[in-house]
Amino acid sequence: MAKRFQNYIGGKWLDAASDATFTDINPAVNDDVVGEFPLSTPDDVDSAVSAARTAFATWSRLPAPERGEILRRIGDVLTERKDELAFEMTREMGKPHFETRGDVQEAIDTAYYAASETRRMFGHTVPSELPNKFNMSIRRPIGVIGVITAWNFPVAVPTWKMFPAIACGNTVVFKPSEDAPHSGMLLVKAFIDAGLPKGVVNLVQGAGEVGAALVSHPDVNAVSFTGSTDTGARIAETCGAMHKRVSLEMGGKNPMIVMDDADLDLVLDGILWGAFGTTGQRCTATSRLIVHEDVHDKLVDMLCEAATNLTIGYGNDAGVEMGPVINEKAIDKVMGYIEIGKDEGATVRLGGKRATGGKLDNGFFIQPTVFTGVSRHMRIAREEIFGPVLSVIKISSYDEAVSIANDVPFGLSSSIYTRDVALAFRAMHDIEAGITYVNGPTIGAEAHMPFGGVKQTGNGHREGGWEVFDFYTETKTVYVDYSGKLQKAQIDNT
Ligand code: NAD
Repeated sequence: MAKRFQNYIGGKWLDAASDATFTDINPAVNDDVVGEFPLSTPDDVDSAVSAARTAFATWSRLPAPERGEILRRIGDVLTERKDELAFEMTREMGKPHFETRGDVQEAIDTAYYAASETRRMFGHTVPSELPNKFNMSIRRPIGVIGVITAWNFPVAVPTWKMFPAIACGNTVVFKPSEDAPHSGMLLVKAFIDAGLPKGVVNLVQGAGEVGAALVSHPDVNAVSFTGSTDTGARIAETCGAMHKRVSLEMGGKNPMIVMDDADLDLVLDGILWGAFGTTGQRCTATSRLIVHEDVHDKLVDMLCEAATNLTIGYGNDAGVEMGPVINEKAIDKVMGYIEIGKDEGATVRLGGKRATGGKLDNGFFIQPTVFTGVSRHMRIAREEIFGPVLSVIKISSYDEAVSIANDVPFGLSSSIYTRDVALAFRAMHDIEAGITYVNGPTIGAEAHMPFGGVKQTGNGHREGGWEVFDFYTETKTVYVDYSGKLQKAQIDNT
């Protein structure tokens, strides 16, 4: 019988109020059932929000560096459990073990970085317009934060949100993706074992309905979301109507520009990692290769030869370089886009089919796929496919490359390969994206750097780095008048 897991609310492990569950399976080995998880309801959300509200009263008053000490211990526990967590993450969502180890490492880095920020949390002091008066700003926590995440970085991304949130004195209700509930549960278990007080982080498992209940709960003060642009739009509507602060990190259609002077061996390594790492299921995946005509044919040949040799399989097996897509729905979506690409007149230069044979028949595998002859107006050049499919677009100048790179509704990551310093600097400014890599692929984020996108990828906030601490705090302006008399700004000093 499959193992049954629970929610974690106010320091207790609990079944869903309805007692209903959903099943989580291994996308690479479909008869391997990871477990049964609570299919939570709005009642469970209500209990979790109430536990978070109660904990907020004490947690928000703890000196920030003491909160930082707990975050440091969480980083230590995650370090001890890195391999175990990576193994279970690969089992549940498919990316190879070396990648899931990186996912945990990002969480560890984020824990130590957030811990260090608890000794900063700067406000400002500035001169007053009036004599004997002192002006400053301080930061205050917001309250209860609803955290809703996707499945593709099931440990790292929740920590990008939860660690700064709790460092700032907020408490959290966390709803992981229904495609990665086990990783979410193991993460919360690490928090508990590191000594995080009860109620500070509460775990509610389930699908979109429970996410929606969390977003619309009147006692949730802010929402941090990572997922698709469609879901983000719905969440933004609710938050807008309820005047809630909301951070949205959504889809991408990330371009890699390759100029005629690029080092093609370096480019090749970058494409393989950018387009087929995490089976192309990263928000930052390289999904458009915009290549100068003088190197186009050579690069495509190099790429197709190398991508054919990628080892596909279960990511916990030795030597596997590319895992499955997440579920049956993803198979339908990606295979559907491959048909759309063919109908639009693009050429399948590599792949284009499900990867089958032997153990692969028991999982959701798709061949690495390369389309050439793609034009900027095709759907495969404009829409997020979220699978191992790369669209190659030929260009004849830098200006044309940038115009195509910017001609999509998304703006998360981007990259340019060139040896021309002037072009590299122009691209930093010209490309409409939250991230630009020079001579590296579109993927890869460091914990202490801001992360996020423009246009329909984001709503102006950033995760990671110093900027995320602005999202999780309210600024309070404080005036101290020690003149001993009533001083009227804009009246006494004109
Ligand atoms: P998704 O939008 O289907 O689901 C994301 C989360 O939202 C899940 O936990 C889901 O249960 C929840 N949800 C669904 N409907 C909801 C609703 N109405 N109200 C509240 N919550 C709801 O996305 P997914 O398939 O899990 O993830 C893939 C998407 O995530 C891709 O578009 C990818 O680009 C994006 N992504 C973005 C980033 C980033 O930082 N920009 C990072 C990772 C993934």
